[in-house]
Amino acid sequence: MFSRGPCLGDKAGARESDYDPIVRSNETSPTHVPGEEPGSSHTPRRVVIVGAGAAGTMAAIFAATAGAETILLERTADGGRKILISGGGRCNVLPAELDETRFVTESSRNTLHKLVRAWPLAEQRAFFENELGIALVEEQETRKLFPVSNRARDVRDGLMALAAQRGARLVMNTRVTAVEPIGDGRWRVTRDGDEPIECDVVIVATGGLSVPATGSDGGGLQMLAGLGHTIHTTYAALTPVTADPAPFAELSGVSLAVTLTATSPTRSATASGGFLFTHRGYSGPSVLDVSHVVVRAADENDRSTARIIVRWSALDDHDWEVALRGAGARTVGAAVRSHMPDRLALTLIAIAGVDPLRQLAELRREERLALIETLVRGELPWTGNEGYKKAEVTGGGVSLAQINPRTMESKRHPGLFLCGEVLDAFGPIGGYNFLWAWATGRAAGRGAAGERS
Ligand SMILES: Cc1cc2nc3c(=O)[nH]c(=O)nc-3n(C[C@H](O)[C@H](O)[C@H](O)COP(=O)(O)OP(=O)(O)OC[C@H]3O[C@@H](n4cnc5c(N)ncnc54)[C@H](O)[C@@H]3O)c2cc1C
Repeated sequence: MFSRGPCLGDKAGARESDYDPIVRSNETSPTHVPGEEPGSSHTPRRVVIVGAGAAGTMAAIFAATAGAETILLERTADGGRKILISGGGRCNVLPAELDETRFVTESSRNTLHKLVRAWPLAEQRAFFENELGIALVEEQETRKLFPVSNRARDVRDGLMALAAQRGARLVMNTRVTAVEPIGDGRWRVTRDGDEPIECDVVIVATGGLSVPATGSDGGGLQMLAGLGHTIHTTYAALTPVTADPAPFAELSGVSLAVTLTATSPTRSATASGGFLFTHRGYSGPSVLDVSHVVVRAADENDRSTARIIVRWSALDDHDWEVALRGAGARTVGAAVRSHMPDRLALTLIAIAGVDPLRQLAELRREERLALIETLVRGELPWTGNEGYKKAEVTGGGVSLAQINPRTMESKRHPGLFLCGEVLDAFGPIGGYNFLWAWATGRAAGRGAAGERS
């Protein structure tokens, strides 16, 4: 059994984190119960957090701040690896503006809203800027907030350092294999090759299945399923879409802003924003934001029923009617090229079966209508997706119906708390997924320490 002695991580590989080289004994722990004098006989609640990603590290900060003896266990050598690779290494910490309707869940939207509102965006921003000391700046074009330094490492290291400073013990290189209630309201956390740890409360913050190289491999979801939780089917979300053969391979590298609508008989999603042709298919924020619709259709062997329709520019039917009417010698090619990259314009004109050199004055009605149809409601051929290896998040997860939204405690097991991507919700590109991890992580940390949000 894990003792309350002075040392954590007795296996050669497991070690206290570099973020906090001080090995603290329980007796010398700086953690205290609010309102209690130092030296009081009260033993603080011991909280073990599994997973030092975005949600788990935030949970550690708030559990330790609330006075719990907090132990953060992480299987990789450093934790927070998704934070490091996020936003192309810049870390899109939060959105500048929040539209709650853009979160995707199969659970109750009402519960989702409660969780998101528990830590309002403005307060989250203030936390990063004032408590963590990381100034954020808005990228106007995308409405995303990034650290002024543009360094994701500042965010990851800052969070880890604050957790340690508030009294949490960070133990890296230790993989949790099971969490189980052992009676009397206590829990045992079993680790691969390390001593088990007994504690009062466990927070599971192990993430989903996306980008397994960052440490999240779905093991936490299996543990939670084993404890009787309902898991909504998981799927890769925010992942590039592929087409094989790739009909637009020659456009690889071309990017522009579009509006996409993906539909299947049971789901739909619309997104506007960046679109990128790749060698294997399509990427960019708009593609990632609607990808779950086609991923789910493919996962359910219903691929043929899902379609992606593209509006290739800001122009709608009426705008194109105006743009394609003209006197003089202006050609169709020139008219379309003035609203999108040249190579794409020529490809779309060819798909519509129109000669790009035809003068607008000579464009027949049916040609104009066919071209407008392609430009406003073009079909994007697709055959697959890049799956979890490139997915920014995992859709599905533990049903929100199974947690108390005020504390993040499992309704199945008192003393077990959940946060972050293990839960059945994800948001679009733009800082929404960290917002979810921060909000649920904070609530779980406070809830586990006995506070309510
Ligand atoms: C390439 C990429 C870019 C992204 N960019 C952004 C962005 O800019 N903005 C944004 O909002 N979101 C972004 N995201 C999404 C965001 O990173 C995730 O939503 C968020 O990290 C989820 O936090 P989490 O703590 O729940 O899970 P994770 O960050 O996945 O953390 C889970 C942690 O648990 C550990 N763990 C798992 N199992 C065990 C175990 N058994 N024992 C011990 N430890 C374990 C893992 O090693 C990991 O450290 C991006 C994701 C990716 C992949």
